Amino acid sequence: MAYRRSSRPRTWQVQQRHLWASFEARFSMGSVFLAHPFLPHADYRAYVAAGMLVAVQVALITGFFLERTGRRRAQREARHVRAHLVHLARVSSMGELVVSLAHELNQPLTAVHGNARTAARMLSRDQVPVAELADILQDIVNDVKRAADLVAQIRDMVSRRPAERVHVDVNGAVRNVRKLLAGESAVRRVPVELDLTPLPLRVEADPIQLQQVLLNLVLNAIEAASMSRGDPPKVEIRSALSAPRTVHIVVRDNGPGLEPGMEGQVFEPFYTTKGSGMGIGLWIARSIVESHGGRIWATNVPEGGAAFHVALPRVPGEEEA
Ligand code: ADP
Repeated sequence: MAYRRSSRPRTWQVQQRHLWASFEARFSMGSVFLAHPFLPHADYRAYVAAGMLVAVQVALITGFFLERTGRRRAQREARHVRAHLVHLARVSSMGELVVSLAHELNQPLTAVHGNARTAARMLSRDQVPVAELADILQDIVNDVKRAADLVAQIRDMVSRRPAERVHVDVNGAVRNVRKLLAGESAVRRVPVELDLTPLPLRVEADPIQLQQVLLNLVLNAIEAASMSRGDPPKVEIRSALSAPRTVHIVVRDNGPGLEPGMEGQVFEPFYTTKGSGMGIGLWIARSIVESHGGRIWATNVPEGGAAFHVALPRVPGEEEA
């Protein structure tokens, strides 16, 4: 039977198979073909298809792998840059505090000096007042500890160290920041008052980063309050439980308040209204709070001044866990 070309379009492979079939049909049953044309597409179709599938899969996997490696590298670099910025902002706010920290450190050192001289005079007397001397020595120990704690806090704030997550007592962190800023508060004559809930407020956080957020808010608040006209300047830090699982911290001042409509803008990078400001403190504070699963926002207080709010997920106490 002669091979007839079909009117339907055929692929080369189908055409070849039909050609071979019509050729075979001309021979009687039982004929043995010692050679037939090598048609890889037809004879090894399954292998070729499988090979192509594997090649496509290898190409796809390689593509995904390269894309994932690239994305991971970009994420690693972004984390690295963020860590640098967090550290830079921290060092910059500590830089602003140099004068007040020196003032703060000077107090215990002056007290130690005075007490040591008094103790030396007592020792030269015929009758050494042992009880009084013991009190003086205890004062010296307390003052040295105060100075050492301050130096340790400064060192923690300026040192570069990997972030960690531990349970932090929020009220303790607020008290620490108040201590660290005692010099600034004295130099600017802005008292910092505390209104802390007696409830245990624990959050899972990097203690230094949490301290950095509070330090930035309180430092800004002291600066703003020092510009207060009329009322005596003051800053208040409040802590509360705003929901069963939410710790709420508010830093409030009675300064001039935020520029109208800028309550959200203040957290944008490089937004500053200060001549020597960098405008990164609140931006970094927001990034730290959000990386801890929290929220930060600002409002103007109707009676005057600004209030900065931080909400963080609370870790239940052992008795509630
Ligand atoms: P910087 O202090 O370098 O300006 P921040 O990011 O800490 O950077 O603050 C950004 C801006 O937000 C400040 O320049 C100021 O305009 C505004 N701001 C922050 N805190 C207060 C506040 N307590 N009262 C009024 N304005 C504030």
